[in-house]
Order: sequence, then structure tokens, then C-alpha cells
Amino acid sequence: MNYRVVICGAGPGGVVLARELSRAGLEVFIYEKGYYAGLGHDWSDAVERVALEAAGLEMPTLAGNQWKGKLVKTEDNPVGLFEPHAIPFLQLHSPDYYSVKLIEFRMITTDRRNLGQYLADEALAAGAKIKYGYEGLELIYTETGEQGPHGVEIEGLKVRNLESGAVEDVRADLVVESSGFNAALRCSLPEYTGMARHFRDIDFGFVNREVRRRDREKARIDVIPDHYRYGFHTGYQWSHIHNEELIDVGAGVRHDPNNPDPKDIIEEFISRHESILAEKIRGGRSLCIVGPPLNNFVTNGFLIIGDAASTSIPTTGCGVGSAILVGLWAAEIISEAAREGKKDIAALWGVNTRFYLDSNRGASLAALSALRTVLQDLGNEKLSFLFRSDIMDKYTLEDAVNGIFTKPTINKMIATLFKGLFKPAVLLQLNRGISSGSRIYNHYRNYPPFWNPDTYDKWCREAKKITNY
Ligand SMILES: Cc1cc2nc3c(=O)[nH]c(=O)nc-3n(C[C@H](O)[C@H](O)[C@H](O)COP(=O)(O)OP(=O)(O)OC[C@H]3O[C@@H](n4cnc5c(N)ncnc54)[C@H](O)[C@@H]3O)c2cc1C
Repeated sequence: MNYRVVICGAGPGGVVLARELSRAGLEVFIYEKGYYAGLGHDWSDAVERVALEAAGLEMPTLAGNQWKGKLVKTEDNPVGLFEPHAIPFLQLHSPDYYSVKLIEFRMITTDRRNLGQYLADEALAAGAKIKYGYEGLELIYTETGEQGPHGVEIEGLKVRNLESGAVEDVRADLVVESSGFNAALRCSLPEYTGMARHFRDIDFGFVNREVRRRDREKARIDVIPDHYRYGFHTGYQWSHIHNEELIDVGAGVRHDPNNPDPKDIIEEFISRHESILAEKIRGGRSLCIVGPPLNNFVTNGFLIIGDAASTSIPTTGCGVGSAILVGLWAAEIISEAAREGKKDIAALWGVNTRFYLDSNRGASLAALSALRTVLQDLGNEKLSFLFRSDIMDKYTLEDAVNGIFTKPTINKMIATLFKGLFKPAVLLQLNRGISSGSRIYNHYRNYPPFWNPDTYDKWCREAKKITNY
């Protein structure tokens, strides 16, 4: 098909999209500023199983507390994608450790480096071309004179060859931004498109994770469960076992200089566990997007996926699943547009409706983002009370961790009122978060099903009133 797509960034969403479009017969180029050996992260992440399965990966089966299958990492298969230790259920601890809830954990611990390279290999095998060492700088566009996302037509992008320093114009029928939360391309658009805003500090978590070696003997006595300590210092802290010898410990806080460094939170945890040794095997620290998703992912000749569109689960910072799923949805919409020789905003609008209407992912993430900020402001003591009194019960927490916003039923609201009789201020604060989350959820479930500038503008004005954003 004579239709050229250029993708900026070889993250998980970008490479899955490239693979699918190439399989559909489109001409696809990825410009990636890094290199093959450095794709992904130097650690393993908890990734939504539903997304990995949708991407066509052969999922392992559970045998006791171990994953078994072709793509599991073993001594014989060090490039396997999945860590062998399974966490079908996860312990959620209150910030003060006194309450524990066991929740279903719909994620699988996935080696990000191996995943990144595996998916890039698949994209390459399907016919996509990946140009490493090229940084996308800005979009090349003409203006249509309209005020709104339809105010521009994208014709390509400027890239810098990082080896030579030379800047080149790359022309394309369609440009896709999949370059993570810095979102250099969409931020180069005029403000009137409504797509150029930079993320705020409050939209980020600051996360640190390390894989440490464990002393096998001491680990028999020093038992550490797979757990999240939820809400601790405006974020969370966790430990996930990888195998008998390795443990992943991490913490994330709201990106704010008043918060402790997540590294110190980890060190304090390690100091209480003598089985965890000083030797650090892998790991890293970085910002992590946890804000609300963009209202719109498309314009004429341009589409945004993954962290650049802020599609992570705000309550955990897990963004690989959404990046892959939106990449897959985008592949279907682009393939159809290409078959009809189209690239305009109306033809690409389906990516928005997949996210906000066909799945309730978008509405859930938008609502959870509002709830997150209210919960973060409660602090350790009040959050521990909500856990202890079961006002934040297993089901609400299970959904929130897995990226689903649930509106409380009347029965639940009455029960909450009784349980919280002695802490009315806490209840009021919680109620504010839930009401605001519910209003946001309902509004996003009423997302415009088709591109119409007036309907979209009206919907955005209402969204701004509700989200204050
Ligand atoms: C410490 C930490 C822990 C995390 N834990 C989890 C977890 O457990 N589970 C989970 O699901 N998610 C986790 N995340 C978040 C997850 O990493 C992201 O949500 C996910 O990688 C987003 O994918 P993406 O494809 O949008 O972008 P990215 O994975 O960020 O990929 C973007 C790619 O674009 C390239 N790039 C950037 N700018 C340019 C440019 N201008 N030109 C060309 N190329 C460019 C980058 O080099 C990169 O290869 C974590 C993040 C951090 C920092």
C-alpha cells in the first residue's frame, strides 16, 4: 500500500504499532533516539497480562507459584520475557502496615529489555524499518486557519541524526508520536490545537526500583511477601520476588521536592530485611506519568500513543499495557484509513472512541487520576484508617490497582457512612475524590463518537469545568 507512516520512538506501543501496520502492508519507519541494546528499561515491570495477550504473545501457564511456558525467563532462556515467579494475588498493605488486603493482580512481571528487543525484532521481521540514533525534534505542518485540533495538517517531522548532528526533514502520510512523556512532537504544535500542553509536575510520580540479590538461607526466615504498601508518602512501595535469589524492591512518590526520595524509602525497607544483600543487580529511577490522559489523540496526519498521551494507570504508574493496547487500536484505525486513502482527523477519530467509548479504559484512567490526588493528600495516617475500617475495601482497591474506576453503590455509601462516623473530615475528603471521579467518569463515557468541531469543543469546555484542567 502506498501509505507511509513514520513513528517517533520505539517504546512498546510504537513497535507493536509498527509491526501491525507492516503486516497490513503499509510502509513504516521508526525513528528512535536510543539504540537496540538499550530498548526498554534495565529491569522488570509489572505489565497488564491482557495487553501482552492482545499483542499476540504466547502467555505462560500457572504451575503452583511459577509461570511455565516458551517465553518464561530461565537459565536456558535468559532472553525470556517473563520472570518465573507468579503473583496471581498481591498483598496490599496500609501505609502503617497494620491492615492487609489480598487482591487479584492482573499483571505479569516482564523483563522490559527483553520485551523491547523481542517486539522490535517482530516489527523488523514484519517489514518495518527502525532507524536508531535519530531524535525527533518537531512536526512539519501547515495551518488550516481553524481553531482546534483540525487547525493543522501534519506533513512530516524534523529529525536529528545524533551521530552527525545533521537535521533532516522526513515526509510522511502519517506521523505517530510514541516517544514517552516528553512528547516533543505534539508540544511543537500551536497552542490553539489543544494538543501542545506540557505535563505538570503533579502529573508525574518519581519512581526508583532495584533488583537486589538475596541470601537464600536468611530468606527462609526473613519471609517477604509480594506486596504493595499503598499510599505510603503520596505513592507506594513494593517488593516482588523474581526467583529464589533475586528480589525487586521499589518505591514511587508524587513528584514534589517536599516528598522523600524513593531511594531512601527503599533503603529503609532493606535495612529491616537482612536477607536482602547490598549487591544491586539492575534497576533505575525516573519520572513516571500518572496524570489524566489527553482529551484527544489525533489531528490531520498525526496520532499520539503511550506515555506521550498520558495513558498510564494513575494509581500505579503502569503504562506499558495501555501503550500496547492503544498501539493495537491505532493500527486498526490507520490501516482502515490507509485503505481509503485518508489521513484526516475524522478518519483517525476512532482511536479516541476506542479509548473512551468502546473500552472504559480512558474514562477509568481519567477518574482514577482525580481520585489519586485526593488520596495522596490524605496522608499516611488517614489512609491507614480507611484501610483498617474497610472503607477502602478489597474490591475498590483491587479495581484501582488494576486500572478500573468503580463508582460506589448506595449500600456501600451507607456502610461507609457508618464506618466513618468518628472521622467525618476524612469521609468528606474521600467523598470529594469519589464524587469528582464519578463526574469525570460519566463525562468521559459521553465522549463525542464522531469528529465534529462544535460537539468536541462543547465536550472539552465541560471537561475543563469538571476536571479544573
Ligand atoms: C522506575 C519506573 C518503573 C515503572 N514501572 C512500570 C511497571 O511496573 N509497569 C508498567 O506498565 N509501567 C511501568 N513504568 C512506566 C512505563 O515504563 C511506561 O509507561 C511505558 O514505557 C510507556 O511506553 P511508551 O511506548 O509510551 O514510551 P517509552 O517506553 O518511554 O518509549 C519511548 C521511546 O521513545 C524514545 N524517544 C524519546 N524521545 C524521543 C525523540 N524525541 N525522538 C526519538 N525517540 C525518542 C525513547 O528512547 C524510548 O525508546 C515504569 C516507569 C518507571 C520510570
